[in-house]
Amino acid sequence: MRKVDLYLNEIFELCSNLGVTELKDLCRNIGITIQSTEYISHSKIYEDNIVIYTNPIIEYDMYVSEKFQIAHELGHLFMHMLNTKVNGKNVDVDNTIYFNYGACWENNEANYFAKKILDYFKEQ
Ligand SMILES: [Zn+2]
Repeated sequence: MRKVDLYLNEIFELCSNLGVTELKDLCRNIGITIQSTEYISHSKIYEDNIVIYTNPIIEYDMYVSEKFQIAHELGHLFMHMLNTKVNGKNVDVDNTIYFNYGACWENNEANYFAKKILDYFKEQ
């Protein structure tokens, strides 16, 4: 099984344990705040908070829904930024901000993650 699918399975299990059926609910439950930005979507780990910044208007010069951006950033947070998978306490300090563009393996992985997690919530 691919690493991304292992993460997804753990998250689906967490959602089912918490009774979470909506993406923003998942964020709330694991202590992630959503804020808007004038720049492209990204996420940042602060000492006492994790923030996903979204901007549905300008992402890659095309419309990408806020939901997809949140799901994509969650993928980066779970797979590329946080050592711990759920509570965000144990932070990888060398990678506390995630900013990248276009086609790279991290973005491909985050897009796959986003599609799968949105499909999951659609079915709930
Ligand atoms: Zn990305």
